Amino acid sequence: MSPGDIRDRLARILGSMIEARVVLIAAGVVLTAFTAAGKLSVLQALGGFAVMVAAAVIGMARGAERGGQASPVSPPALVAGDPLLETVIAGIPDPVVALDREGRVLALNATAGSLSPALRRGDPASIALRMPELVEAIRSANATGEPQRIEFSERVPVDRWYEAVVAPVGRSRDAQSGSREFLLVTFRDLTPLRQVEEMRADFVANASHELRTPLAALSGFIETLQGPARDDQAAQRRFLPIMHAQAARMARLIDDLLSLSRIELNAHRRPGTPLDVMPLVRQVVDGLQTLARDRDVAIKIQAPAQPHLVLGDRDELIRVFENLIENALKYGAAGKRVEIVATPGEMPDGMSELRIAVRDHGPGIAPEHLPRLTERFYRVDVAESREQGGTGLGLALVKHILNRHRGRLSIASTPGAGATFTAHIPLLTAEAKPAKGQA
Ligand code: ADP
Repeated sequence: MSPGDIRDRLARILGSMIEARVVLIAAGVVLTAFTAAGKLSVLQALGGFAVMVAAAVIGMARGAERGGQASPVSPPALVAGDPLLETVIAGIPDPVVALDREGRVLALNATAGSLSPALRRGDPASIALRMPELVEAIRSANATGEPQRIEFSERVPVDRWYEAVVAPVGRSRDAQSGSREFLLVTFRDLTPLRQVEEMRADFVANASHELRTPLAALSGFIETLQGPARDDQAAQRRFLPIMHAQAARMARLIDDLLSLSRIELNAHRRPGTPLDVMPLVRQVVDGLQTLARDRDVAIKIQAPAQPHLVLGDRDELIRVFENLIENALKYGAAGKRVEIVATPGEMPDGMSELRIAVRDHGPGIAPEHLPRLTERFYRVDVAESREQGGTGLGLALVKHILNRHRGRLSIASTPGAGATFTAHIPLLTAEAKPAKGQA
């Protein structure tokens, strides 16, 4: 204990002693009067006085132990707009509302205001939050003193899901704290989580369906070849190529699914190998000449002569050009020609990029389909895609690969006049050397 503490303590004891002295003098006067009047014997009066002295001494010692704390004064009751409560709540990013025990709004933060614009300080929350589950949770939190957790959804204007936790705050056995009790209602938007769950479920359903279709065809042919067509050589010759095509389709689908998940896994790691893009495009075009001849389509490449270096993954970029050029040959064959045009350009942030546009002159794509083309399994015409041996994953792969290369895919089309799919890839400039540790 420091000399300062000792001084304080002595001062407090002295203060208590002065108070006690006044009380003891008064007691002494009263006891003397009673003794003089013959109501008490001298012994009884002395005994009573001794008890009072002892009580005063114990009281002084307790007072000194409490460190001179002021006798507890009831804190002011919480009112709507309490500045401390408002400040604390304003710092929480999720929507939060504080209610008094009657369910009236004491304070709310801005996000709670946007979640439910009808919430007003001082008004009952049940008027603004027209959710019976929430009103019930507030009632049980009040009754039990335990936090209550609920989930609820809104359908209008769009589907949204929320979690709310109603927690009683400041509950204590001390009756004086009652006026400081409140309920803290915290909301969490579960919509993005639910959407991811739904997308995953949709994806699994789509992938299973896509795999089941060729599998069912294969099983059917195997049964026929084992049964009725066991000795039918003509049927065997007809069925085997179809079975081969179905098996190849399943293999392509599995291959695309695996590629997609691998690219997604590495999405945050930008490829780091400097590559010249146009030789890759030419290599892909050479590989697709047979398909082009089959479809009677001429492919023309137009690009500046100098190399265009990008940081890339060779196999992934080949995949991008294969998908775009193959699609142009398959879906745009009616136009008889496909042009591949490479031009340097500028990205919105001012960095240089290479734009490789693959243009066909086929039927094109109606505008309502354009925003959805890169969704997994989305096809304008499912039957046509299947007929062309498509998996519905090609453009999803293209988009993910370009994103990993910090580029993007843009699509433009005029129905009846063809479609242009452009891959935008950041160019490797003198300032942007490959960073260490990049794959
Ligand atoms: P798929 O395996 O079906 O070809 P993609 O993801 O590559 O899958 O393409 C999705 C859909 O986009 C195709 O099914 C087709 O309907 C449409 N599409 C893609 N490229 C073209 C194009 N050049 N012209 C017209 N439609 C196209």
